[in-house]
Amino acid sequence: MDPIKLSQDLIRCPSITPHNAGALEIVEKHLTSLGFTCERLDFEGIANLYAQKGAGRPRLCFGGHTDVVPVGAENLWTASPFQGTIKDEKLWGRGAADMKCAIAAFLSALADLKTEAPLSLLITGDEEGEALHGTQRLLPLLAERNLIPDLCLIGEPTALKEVGDTLKIGRRGSITGQLTCFGKQGHIAYPQNTDNPIPRLLACLQDLYAYPFDEGTEMFEPTRFEATSIDVGNLATNIIPQKVEARFGIRLNTLQKAEDLCEVLKSLCQKTAGKHDLHLTIHGDAYLTEDKEKIHLVQKAIEKVTGALPAISTTGGTTDGRFISAYCPVIECGLLEKTMHQVDEHVSLKDIHQLKEIYLSILHDFLPDSSTSGRENLTD
Ligand SMILES: [Zn+2]
Repeated sequence: MDPIKLSQDLIRCPSITPHNAGALEIVEKHLTSLGFTCERLDFEGIANLYAQKGAGRPRLCFGGHTDVVPVGAENLWTASPFQGTIKDEKLWGRGAADMKCAIAAFLSALADLKTEAPLSLLITGDEEGEALHGTQRLLPLLAERNLIPDLCLIGEPTALKEVGDTLKIGRRGSITGQLTCFGKQGHIAYPQNTDNPIPRLLACLQDLYAYPFDEGTEMFEPTRFEATSIDVGNLATNIIPQKVEARFGIRLNTLQKAEDLCEVLKSLCQKTAGKHDLHLTIHGDAYLTEDKEKIHLVQKAIEKVTGALPAISTTGGTTDGRFISAYCPVIECGLLEKTMHQVDEHVSLKDIHQLKEIYLSILHDFLPDSSTSGRENLTD
């Protein structure tokens, strides 16, 4: 199974969340041909796929998503984002790095693997959006059926310079929020008759920036507050506005619980914001895989392919690892992070092949009695 051709087929499906656009059908077709039992578990119009083969333990699950983020300004793309163009030994298109080519690499590795060992795949069409009707909803169903794996390998982009140089064993959690401060509109020349909400909002944001949430841990950066916009929408130069609104985000580490942090934010706003509205959305707590044995096994399997032990990291945005880690250890390993979500997202063809070898080596080392067909055994 050619991972490049399969990558192209997947990129040619314009599967911007919540659309599936035929992507999961392609995955399903290949898995069925490899002897997997496939089950579509669609919720609220979101397509999800669970596939499995073999019985017993240890069970390894590959986790991934076929949905992609929007293309942004399409006129800025060198090649059309859903054409799957190959140029300069690279494959270009939305979802190339994040993470269709990783799915293709894993399927292609499966085709070369001879094993009766238990394997499963959990592929969702709702990771880049709200992530409400994907992985989060599938896990309780798998738990009910006693199908929670012993390790979940997620194919999110994790590499910095070369494929296999970095694994993610955790991710920070995330909260986003919107703070609106209210005042009294009036003429700028008569401020005594008005109540300007802007200084209160600014003071509150400064307090939030200055608040010593924590100093981070060995594996995590400190919890951080960042404002993303301040809006008044005031076109006049001589009117003090009635309200001002700020949007912000917090990335939190394992020292914090998102729910507790929301209480801290509420009380800080209470102190300086005056009359205000605060809306907070929790996107997830931080997660950290602490199963050193499994981390080491995956590191060693990668070293056999690349010649170097990968670094372990917890940086970057949230992934479905935050949901899965509540059930089993999670390790993320995929292509280069560099162009994900950008205009002209691309990956090198060499990297797709290399990731396939990495996945094959991990499968080989994790699953008992597995071997590689049609070539020298990688890990002898
Ligand atoms: Zn992703």
